[in-house]
Amino acid sequence: MEFIDTHAHLDAFQTTGELESAIKRAKDANVTRIITCSARKCDWQNFSKIAREHKGCVFWQMGIHPTEIEDGDEEFLESAKDFLKSDMPPVSIGEIGLDFYKFEGSREEFEKMKSRQERLFKAQLEIAKNAGLPVCVHARSAVEEAIKIIDESGFDWGKVVFHCFSGTASQLEMLNSRGGRASFTGIITYKNAEQMRESMLAQGLSKIMFETDCPYLAPVPMRGKPNEPSYIPFIAQKSAELFGISIEEIAEISTKNAREFFGI
Ligand SMILES: [Zn+2]
Repeated sequence: MEFIDTHAHLDAFQTTGELESAIKRAKDANVTRIITCSARKCDWQNFSKIAREHKGCVFWQMGIHPTEIEDGDEEFLESAKDFLKSDMPPVSIGEIGLDFYKFEGSREEFEKMKSRQERLFKAQLEIAKNAGLPVCVHARSAVEEAIKIIDESGFDWGKVVFHCFSGTASQLEMLNSRGGRASFTGIITYKNAEQMRESMLAQGLSKIMFETDCPYLAPVPMRGKPNEPSYIPFIAQKSAELFGISIEEIAEISTKNAREFFGI
């Protein structure tokens, strides 16, 4: 039995000196592959290095997260081609997208932020399209806006995952009907997350992939602790119960889905 954590932020473990032990604990828990996801441009070099040091176990995604955009990032995207050509290229472009959650500024500031996020999102979709890579989309309080941009870009929906999906049932239907998918975190183990569990069931097993989004969102029974890749089996166990299948079956299906989606 093996699992894949399709979305982890491994830099958090470097900060605490826990990277090697966290990877070891993941392997001990049958989480044989971890995809570490970029948020800032400084992650790119770092994650390609970690992937090189843990070849076959750690893979990386290259992108700039909508709330982490800094001046100069649009120019920085030029360097994507060097990473794509390197001996350790990313397996996906992510996380990229839109985040309009609880913005506390004037209308004018909001519009400025929104257009900056949209520009970066479109530019990174273009990078993924040219490289033939899938994208990991972060869309918070902006699911339909993100769908619209992907539609307009002509990007292949079969290569789109909305990670840590937090949209409604009808938004999930919008994704699925286009051929896109959502992935789910430990939130599905939380008591008040009925809507998310329903979304996961509605999407079905054919697209299921698991992610921790660690160090955030630790699943029950680890809730409140820093999350890590080795906690994937808690999420998988809960999902297996919801789908009414065994953990071995869901391990096999989710691993196959993730390997196909990310080409790993
Ligand atoms: Zn993330």
